[in-house]
Amino acid sequence: MITKIKGTQDILPEEARFWQEIESKIRLVSKIYNFQELRTPIFEATELFHRGVGDTSDIVKKETYDFQDRGDRMITLRPEGTAPIIRSVIENKLYATPKLPLKVYYQGPMFRYERPQKGRQRQFHQFGAEAIGSDSPLVDAEMIAYAATFIASLGIANVKVKLNSLGDLSTKEAYKDKLRDYLEDHVSSLCPDCNRRYKENPLRVLDCKVDKDNPVLIDAPKPLDHLSEAAKAHFDQVCKYLEAMQIDYSIDPTLVRGLDYYTHTVFELDSDIETLGAQSTLGGGGRYNGLSSQLEGPELPAVGFAFGMERLLLALQGSGYKLEEEHIHAFMIALGDECKAESLAIVDLLRHGGLIIDYDYDVRSLKAQFKHAERFNPWFYLIFGEAEMKANTINVKDAATGEQETVEIDKLYNVLVKKIQARYHSCSGNCENCEEDC
Ligand code: AMP
Repeated sequence: MITKIKGTQDILPEEARFWQEIESKIRLVSKIYNFQELRTPIFEATELFHRGVGDTSDIVKKETYDFQDRGDRMITLRPEGTAPIIRSVIENKLYATPKLPLKVYYQGPMFRYERPQKGRQRQFHQFGAEAIGSDSPLVDAEMIAYAATFIASLGIANVKVKLNSLGDLSTKEAYKDKLRDYLEDHVSSLCPDCNRRYKENPLRVLDCKVDKDNPVLIDAPKPLDHLSEAAKAHFDQVCKYLEAMQIDYSIDPTLVRGLDYYTHTVFELDSDIETLGAQSTLGGGGRYNGLSSQLEGPELPAVGFAFGMERLLLALQGSGYKLEEEHIHAFMIALGDECKAESLAIVDLLRHGGLIIDYDYDVRSLKAQFKHAERFNPWFYLIFGEAEMKANTINVKDAATGEQETVEIDKLYNVLVKKIQARYHSCSGNCENCEEDC
């Protein structure tokens, strides 16, 4: 038997319903915040991620899926969405609009060769958003608000917003030098990974999970204490706007995020809900003012975030999110071959009118068809036998009450729509909502 590749998952129909729910919230909240979708390819030139995400990041060093295509190009399956979005914005000159910042969102599969565990896969999915072309601290706050509103729309429990600032590019580089010097003096007490990491990527040492209670890291210099005046003013403004938007947050001086391109604000949304296990980060992001010029585009200060869809799903299910009960509007029960053939046109008509209809593909007895129909949880049964066919009528039976009515075929669609509306409104079929919908 050929099985799926390690670190990938099939999303089976029952679970796909939760995905669709998350995706509908993505579209809804993005629309409310006035963001538009931008879709980029799943693979890109390898160089994009080396230059965009950074050679020193774990992602590019150890986790990308790279291959040479038949035309000898070096290709990488995208490990994240921001570098492709900025590539697309530059290539398509989307920045040439007076409507800056450009506000776009994306969703889709990402690929990282990581050690698979609960909430961590090799093919996973992200929903992310980017606001490109403004350095206003209000945009940082707005992105955090957008992210928090999205999470709230899913009803995920125990969510915390964590915030930090890495300062502007030159502050960040100066701080990295300072941190590297400090870590050099304490290298013997760092974990093996950090022993290797601290030279190239000292920031990552700060949020090492192994060393999180290590006094060396607790006492290490923190980015917030080394901000330039301008970077500090930017951060203070972000905090002020978040307070004005009544967003609860806490400052986490060790928060750095894993990608090299961040400057100024970085943030994360965590939940300690049990179903997430060790992977408590739902998503995060930050400002990345240098990325566009790094990719040979114009200066485009930007802020973005990304959420892992698999983790959202775990959190959603752990928070007891209830999906609506699945049902179909009606099940056609046609008796005998001739009636079955005749009933297909009726089914077709109802379906084209937007009703959810199913029927039995086999010609079976009335009892057997009813039994089969029950599996689909229909609100109504449509019973069509020889007598009805001759009289040009059909019997409509309410599955909940057992009440049955004979209806002329010509009137079936209207009668059924009215009955279905009544079910949606839980009324007897003549309420104000029914009238309005009609
Ligand atoms: P990042 O792009 O690394 O900032 O990650 C943003 C979010 O994507 C994380 O908070 C996770 O929710 C999710 N994520 C990152 N890597 C993985 C992975 N290997 N498997 C599942 N989700 C992931």
